Amino acid sequence: MSTGTIALWDQDAVKNAAEALSTARAEEIVRWGLATFGPRTAVASSFSEEDVAVIHLAASTGLPFRVVALDTGRLHEETRWVGDQLQARYGIPIEWYFPLGEELEELTRTAGMFSFRRSLEERRRCCEIRKVGPLRRALEGTPAWFTGLRRDQSQTRASLPVIEWDVAFGGLVKLNPLAGWTDAQLRDLADAHGLPRHALYDEGYTSIGCAPCSRPTRPGEHPRSGRWWWEDPAHAECGLHPLSHRTIRKA
Ligand code: SF4
Repeated sequence: MSTGTIALWDQDAVKNAAEALSTARAEEIVRWGLATFGPRTAVASSFSEEDVAVIHLAASTGLPFRVVALDTGRLHEETRWVGDQLQARYGIPIEWYFPLGEELEELTRTAGMFSFRRSLEERRRCCEIRKVGPLRRALEGTPAWFTGLRRDQSQTRASLPVIEWDVAFGGLVKLNPLAGWTDAQLRDLADAHGLPRHALYDEGYTSIGCAPCSRPTRPGEHPRSGRWWWEDPAHAECGLHPLSHRTIRKA
């Protein structure tokens, strides 16, 4: 398909691209995205096995791209370690973004260090300051970003398209090349290329976020059930991937 120019991208163009690429392989979607949107295109990474896979696929194209990561101040050290391993392996500087100091001081002084346990609203406020705000700054001037989201991760992601129009972050293209991937596909890619692996997977974690908001899961439990386990699973998103913009399939 024609790539067009970045300036022409809008919700309708994204809808057409999503249909054209709906059956494309992840490698093809990654290459297409980088060739279309250029070197400002960002891979947003929490250093999950999905994000490591996307970084690997992007690096394999030989095309330039950015890797952005959010240090919320509450990460596991093992997460930061994967970031350093990837930086060394691919020679791509990880662009770490941090919460704004004044906002974080205000949050912790007025609400404490564990305000997120009190209510959904307070949890969302913490995610807004520690994650969403920094990602907004990371994506400024970026025409498109990649995620490692998959449809089978949660009920909130079941209808995830491979490409969507991201209103939440100001109107840009969001690419989810692993949308249809399975655990087995991820494992095969990681084994074939010896990809760095987050150490907490070996301690029973199946989805890894901030330390106080993630815990290991038991066999048979949903992989995302270790995230914000005290909340209704329907709310199990941190604001980086809101559902409000996921309307492209209905249009
Ligand atoms: S995951 Fe938890 S600690 Fe991390 S930003 Fe959200 S509420 Fe705060």
